[in-house]
Amino acid sequence: MLPVVSLPKACRLLVLFYTVHLVLILVYYYLAVRKMDIFQYYTKKQQRQHSWINGNTSMVAELYECPETSPLLVGSMNVEFSKHVDLEQIKKDNPAVRVGGRHTPEDCLALQKVAVIIPFRNRDVHLKYWLYYLHPILQRQQLDYGVYVINQDGEETFNRAKLMNVGFAEALKDYDYDCFVFSDVDLIPMDDRNIYKCYLQPRHIAVSTDKFGFKLPYKQSFGGVIALSKDQFQEINGFSNNYWGWGGEDDDIYKRIISRHMSLSRPDAIIGKYRMIRHNRDVKNEPNPQRFVKNVRTKWMMNSDGINSLSYKVVKIQKFPLYTKITVNIGLPKT
Ligand code: BGC
Repeated sequence: MLPVVSLPKACRLLVLFYTVHLVLILVYYYLAVRKMDIFQYYTKKQQRQHSWINGNTSMVAELYECPETSPLLVGSMNVEFSKHVDLEQIKKDNPAVRVGGRHTPEDCLALQKVAVIIPFRNRDVHLKYWLYYLHPILQRQQLDYGVYVINQDGEETFNRAKLMNVGFAEALKDYDYDCFVFSDVDLIPMDDRNIYKCYLQPRHIAVSTDKFGFKLPYKQSFGGVIALSKDQFQEINGFSNNYWGWGGEDDDIYKRIISRHMSLSRPDAIIGKYRMIRHNRDVKNEPNPQRFVKNVRTKWMMNSDGINSLSYKVVKIQKFPLYTKITVNIGLPKT
């Protein structure tokens, strides 16, 4: 029998024993879980391969999928339009961007293949700023992306939505994209956590622009920069081809989305901050007075007006170091 005086010591020993036991169990479980992770990591590695052309040599490397959140993001950024930007310097600063404005992460497999489509006419200065800010951001977001500037040929009334339909069709001829970001050339994100990728629901990306006092102008707003997966875009038959002049086409695509029982996803107002490059209204892009009447008819027109009725003629395709420029003849408004 133990003497009474040694009992507390025995208790202390017991507590110590159980503590060590508990620590060992925790360490064991931690290692077991890590081992499972590592196991999954290696199966992914073995399942997927990645190849690219480097100079004249075809390279094949085994890569892991990029993480859900890129470790390269920096968060909020200063954006201003007074500094001089130069295309050659932008190219030098972004050596990993390939001809045509293509980029694929080198050390991981991108989760999405994104075509960024920019409707365009006579906005070369804005485009320089866009390339200056967006190439580094899109690379930090670890996207497999390409930049397509869809340039409306001629001097007739501008048709932003039809140009974006053309961008969708032409980008798919170039690469097997699964996500499409449609962006105005004058909109620059102020936070790289605002990812240019697709989500389960169509994404409104430019939600908090300085032009509107960093607020959403109205609840149904779906303008500026948006992202739709290939499936989402096909499901709504793309944009209407019939909005000539400024306005209405973004409200029209919003109605298409709702009528197909989808909803919008958005970043919060901090991550979704944007700066717009100030400019005068473009010639031949005056507000379209018919936009309100057309908006009423979206639901009835959308099955026959969209990517299934798109017609255009490619005038020129130019693969520049930082972007692909596709000049198109999109015809004239129906009279
Ligand atoms: C136009 C939209 C535009 C919105 C905000 C609406 O009247 O139809 O195209 O995005 O105003 O400026």
